[in-house]
Amino acid sequence: MNYLRATNLGEVTALLEEYPEALLLCGSTDAALQLRHRPETATLIDIHALEELKGVSAEGDRMRIGTLVTLNELLYSDAVRESLPLLAACADTFGSHQIRNLATVGGNIANASPAADLTAALVALEASVTLASQDGERSVPLETLFCGYKCTKLDHELITAVTVPLQTGSWYYRKAGMRERLNIAKVSIALTHGSGGFRISGASLGPSPVRFRTLEALLDGGVYDDAAIKAALENDADPSGGYRSTKAYRLRVAFNMIKEALSQPEER
Ligand SMILES: Cc1cc2nc3c(=O)[nH]c(=O)nc-3n(C[C@H](O)[C@H](O)[C@H](O)COP(=O)(O)OP(=O)(O)OC[C@H]3O[C@@H](n4cnc5c(N)ncnc54)[C@H](O)[C@@H]3O)c2cc1C
Repeated sequence: MNYLRATNLGEVTALLEEYPEALLLCGSTDAALQLRHRPETATLIDIHALEELKGVSAEGDRMRIGTLVTLNELLYSDAVRESLPLLAACADTFGSHQIRNLATVGGNIANASPAADLTAALVALEASVTLASQDGERSVPLETLFCGYKCTKLDHELITAVTVPLQTGSWYYRKAGMRERLNIAKVSIALTHGSGGFRISGASLGPSPVRFRTLEALLDGGVYDDAAIKAALENDADPSGGYRSTKAYRLRVAFNMIKEALSQPEER
């Protein structure tokens, strides 16, 4: 195993150019599992010490969240609780205190799990991600970063930050799973409703996090009919049926959550 410890961003992008298949190590909560399936020759680039990838800061009507911000830093940030309450609520359902101390925002996104809680919430919040490589930086809408199950379009790049428009209007976040805590989402739903209309996404409802655009358009048009909501959900969501729950179960729970979101939203 080849272990490399980067001390600045330039070093990381140079190393990614040289070792495009390398695993980046932040909290290592997912990478530790990935390593089980990797050959002994895997290259690891440890980026957890890079100060420029840390911190939460307000930038006008947006919040910039460094990729190395941990889930506990999100959960206990006054700025996040005040301006992005959906994200704080999501962080509160995440793993355990110990996992939240290690797990990072960038790691949750880059791991591209369909069950990733934070990623789904960030898609509903219309977040964008900043990506860096030897060629410079680019910013893309988060929802365009994914290409299927555990697949991203990162190209010799790392995520340096996530930028999220500050929340306005009402919102809803729920996660359903086997247990109260340390739970992989069987289903979760993130919803915001502001002047721009509805924004809805979820975890474990497709191969990667998706916006439910048919459903958004339906609700924006004022149609709240059960059958129409079910049909729109079935059009947008494509959950797998697995040992943790069936496709029918996931769709039913998602429908119930949408109904609850419409009748009992949280206000900002
Ligand atoms: C017990 C346990 C409970 C968990 N509970 C939850 C939960 O409730 N909800 C949930 O969503 N997840 C959960 N997870 C999964 C995991 O903790 C999260 O996905 C976490 O956010 C990953 O962050 P990390 O810093 O540990 O990533 P790492 O493990 O360090 O990296 C993960 C992957 O992302 C890549 N990567 C990391 N950072 C970057 C970057 N900046 N740019 C590009 N690529 C990058 C790495 O190369 C690697 O492939 C849990 C894991 C465990 C072990």
